[in-house]
Formats: sequence, C-alpha cells, structure tokens
Amino acid sequence: MSKKRRNNGRAKKNRGHDRFVRCINCGRVVPKDKAVKRYTVRNMVDASSLRDLKENSAFAVLVVPKFYTKLEYCISCAIHARVVKVRSAKDRRNRDPPARAPRPKDDDRKKAPVQTAPPAAAAVA
Ligand SMILES: [Zn+2]
Repeated sequence: MSKKRRNNGRAKKNRGHDRFVRCINCGRVVPKDKAVKRYTVRNMVDASSLRDLKENSAFAVLVVPKFYTKLEYCISCAIHARVVKVRSAKDRRNRDPPARAPRPKDDDRKKAPVQTAPPAAAAVA
C-alpha cells in the first residue's frame, strides 16, 4: 500500500513508544516525536517600549531579559497557525530543511548605519 510519508509523520525510529506532550494551543495529547516543536527567544518588552527604557535608563548598557519558550504544537494547530505548511505529494519528497530568511542581528543593525555612511559621504564629496 502506498504511504503518504515514509516516517508516518513521526520521528520515531527503533522505539515502540515516545512520551506524550500537550499541544500549547489546544491541549491535545501528541507524541513528542510527532509534535511540531519551535524554540522561541523573544524580548520581554516590545521595540518601542525598549527604546523608552533605554532612553530613561541610568545605565549605559541596558540588558532586557528575554523569554525562552519551547512551543510544542499538535499537527492540526501547527497547520492552522502556519508553523508548517501542507505540501503536495511531490514536494513532500523534498527532505531539505526550509530556506531560512536572513535575520539581522542586533549588532548588525547598530553597525549598518555606520558602515553605509562613509561610502555615501565619499560619493557625494
Ligand atoms: Zn493543538
């Protein structure tokens, strides 16, 4: 019989059972190897509040704590929340990791204006 996925949508190999986790969205019990897992690191305050904090801080360097969260979704919620997408039968054969969008780091954002300014000034002069 044809198979939709050769791993049956799971990452369980040579094991009869894997422990269960709860979906963070709906609470569904889902095997840990099947759950869609995302590790997110977010700032505790949003960008505009962070700017206010930095402007009014007595310290030169303000380190705002971050949230480190492990998100575990059931398949239904992962699809619904677009954490993962449905792929056609042909595309499901593609086992490459999804292309990652380049994400500027905090350091890069600070450096960027400094790096771009001198060439622009030189071009004008
Ligand atoms: Zn769910």
